[in-house]
Amino acid sequence: MSERYLSINAFLKQKFGSKFIKLSIDGGFTCPNRDGTLDRGGCLFCSEQGSGEYAGIVAPEFEKAQASASAQIESSISAQIESQKALVSKKWTARNYIAYFQNFTNTYDSVDRLKLRYDKALAEPEIKGLAIATRADCLDDCVIELLKSYRHLPVFWVEIGVQTSKQDSRDWLNLHQSLSLLESRVKALKEAGIPVVLHVIAGLPGETKEDFMATIAFVNRLAPFGIKIHMLNILKGTALAHAYGEAPFELLSRDVYIEWIVEALAHLRPDITIHRLTGDGPRALLIEPLWIRDKRAVLNGIEKQLREQSIVQGCQWQD
Ligand code: SF4
Repeated sequence: MSERYLSINAFLKQKFGSKFIKLSIDGGFTCPNRDGTLDRGGCLFCSEQGSGEYAGIVAPEFEKAQASASAQIESSISAQIESQKALVSKKWTARNYIAYFQNFTNTYDSVDRLKLRYDKALAEPEIKGLAIATRADCLDDCVIELLKSYRHLPVFWVEIGVQTSKQDSRDWLNLHQSLSLLESRVKALKEAGIPVVLHVIAGLPGETKEDFMATIAFVNRLAPFGIKIHMLNILKGTALAHAYGEAPFELLSRDVYIEWIVEALAHLRPDITIHRLTGDGPRALLIEPLWIRDKRAVLNGIEKQLREQSIVQGCQWQD
């Protein structure tokens, strides 16, 4: 683990003395940007799985197609957790798990149904925490009131995609979500004592390093609990893949990505936990950039640059 930035793993290890492992769950939700409420196309990068390719890996006998009824979805949550545990236990011995509702928009349903599904996951053995990925426009006061009831958990946070603060890029990505709404909902979550993790993307076409740093400055202003950063990656079956196929655009090289991340870390508030600095993407679906498959090389490259330039997280941050 790097000593040059505050990784979430190091943060949790220091707080609880042990590692926590996230289990990705498909809670059976949909999204207003895909069901026609806002749009049917979804965010440009959104996949068939609602940007949750690792979730819902379940026992072979479970067929998602059969789980359309609510009760079946709830019972599938146990099956998903069991299967995910079996997978990750081959790699890690730790038995502290976080149920990560990852696919689609995981606060987009009635409060009763949300509670039922979160509680179902929390009732499983060794599940000690909850992480919920959602959109800012699916966080009304009733939902926030429900989320408040999980603050007692050892590990709990809500994840929201900022992606970028540049309006042209937000329009191109078809996010259908204003920055002002996002800002106000993040504030409401924070006032309710709910930790927030924000997602951002580096390397959007037409964005310079200065644009990316403006997104980092936006995140700094919101002062969330955590941040996830990843390179724009193009996955098969997405509208982004179609756009790229029609008119290919330049993607960042690994070296340039590393340069951007190092600068972002230098300017990021030192108290923001780092949940991701690179994503490796599902191999079978990844079209470009292929260098992200070697996650270790990216992380080692970041670490090397941090060391050589004597940079630690927040060393150039100004409040
Ligand atoms: S908000 Fe998430 S689930 Fe909805 S379209 Fe965008 S990426 Fe997909």
